[in-house]
Amino acid sequence: MVDMDTLVSLCKRRGFIFQSSEIYGGLGSAWDYGPLGVELKRNVRNLWWRDTVHLRRDVLGLEAAVLMHPRVWEASGHLERFTDPMVDCRECKRRFRADHVDTQAWLHYCPAKKDNKFEIPAGEACKHCGAHRTLCPVCGKGTLTEPRQFNMMLKTFLGPVEEDAAVTYLRPETAQGMFVNFENVLQAMRRKLPFGIAQVGRSFRNEITPGNFIFRTREFEQMELEFFVNPHDQVEGQPADEYWHEHWIETRMAWYRRYGIRAENLRLREHAKEELAHYAKRTVDIEYRFAIGWSELEGIANRTDFDLKRHAEVSGRTLSYFDEERKQHVVPYVIEPAAGVDRTVLAILTDAYDVEEVRGEKRVVLRFHPEVAPVKIAVLPLLKKREEIVARCGELRDRLAARGWVSVYDDTAAIGRLYRRQDEVGTPYCVTVDVQTVGDREKGERGDDRVTIRDRDSMGQIRVPIAELETAFADLLGGTPWAAVAARYPSQSAAS
Ligand code: ATP
Repeated sequence: MVDMDTLVSLCKRRGFIFQSSEIYGGLGSAWDYGPLGVELKRNVRNLWWRDTVHLRRDVLGLEAAVLMHPRVWEASGHLERFTDPMVDCRECKRRFRADHVDTQAWLHYCPAKKDNKFEIPAGEACKHCGAHRTLCPVCGKGTLTEPRQFNMMLKTFLGPVEEDAAVTYLRPETAQGMFVNFENVLQAMRRKLPFGIAQVGRSFRNEITPGNFIFRTREFEQMELEFFVNPHDQVEGQPADEYWHEHWIETRMAWYRRYGIRAENLRLREHAKEELAHYAKRTVDIEYRFAIGWSELEGIANRTDFDLKRHAEVSGRTLSYFDEERKQHVVPYVIEPAAGVDRTVLAILTDAYDVEEVRGEKRVVLRFHPEVAPVKIAVLPLLKKREEIVARCGELRDRLAARGWVSVYDDTAAIGRLYRRQDEVGTPYCVTVDVQTVGDREKGERGDDRVTIRDRDSMGQIRVPIAELETAFADLLGGTPWAAVAARYPSQSAAS
């Protein structure tokens, strides 16, 4: 498994992700997506939207404002309960999440040894004196304060006066946008239960200990679905909310696998009763085996009727659904699959990373699923000094881009290096234009109008007439295996 430092370095070097405001020393916990990162992230978002909204008959989209009425946060419980326990070191003044202090290595000055400064792995005792951590894990000297509750919402002021009446918050989750618009969507779209409202957007949390690259940041993006069900209904002999909860757990697991994440790196984790949020009947996390260990990628909760009831109570509006069959008003239950765009990007990068040896040389490949890959096709010249070759490359790149496939041109190195570079950013296919393609005008030789397509994973190469390029790529990028397309064309001996 690739370690975090290797991934961070590749992401910077190849234009996926940069530290925010790096020229000013960087802003901790904020990251900028570069030219390749922005494509990757967009693909994640678009695939989620396509599969969760467009391909379903029972889900509608929404885009709510980040700024919401402050009473939303009173009703949702975030003002009162969206807190993490925080402790401070009395010596170095560092701040930790109380429940995270023992998940990191700790510094220990051992009384039983002379040369006594040791770093001890997370949760372990000192081998020499048997002591467990009690002091600050970083400086090893200061005592820690009692835990205090710290509200994680980012506060801001609306308007020109910074007074209490103008306080509001940057949303810590997108979900509340769907609850406060439940009535609007129901009225405007005339839906019957069950149906869902989906949203992708930014959320903000003043995390005490952000870190691990884009795993935990203070500004991040979520993909959330609130799926409303009638709690009086039964589906296949089960209460509707339980049936749909299972449905979404399976659907979301299958979604990650469909886009190339390996099954052995995914697992479900059922929340224990004591751990459940106060409103939740049941919550199941999808966890991914990140470089930092198994951690949450997505949470899928049965939030019951808590949210709509609370908003009805605080706003004084009726937020319910009229059940025609039973002739009564019901407050729907909500099943919520809540995923992070950035965490999905991190999981995809981690899972795709591969190193192999090819003819004695190291080859780094990001084995992205073609639909996830930021660039689909790279068009490369075998000789950049030949004008006709370069011109033909430009034409082909534009033609392929016009078909909707993100395509690039690169001539800044010899062909072998160019292939390696595309492998390292996960481009599934390269097209190479050579002398044979364009011919030699001086010698009066006509070209054969064929180009080489190279497959990233097998490094196999085939020779394809330019006229058939779009058909070949429609197949390849549409999911036809390389071997099936390759069988239609003569193969080239693979040079790189
Ligand atoms: P965690 O326990 O890791 O703090 P959470 O349970 O608070 O996460 P949810 O409120 O369920 O997270 O949010 C849904 C999803 O949003 C998470 O599964 C994760 O993918 C993403 N997410 C939450 N907080 C962050 C963050 N600070 N940075 C990046 N992604 C986040």
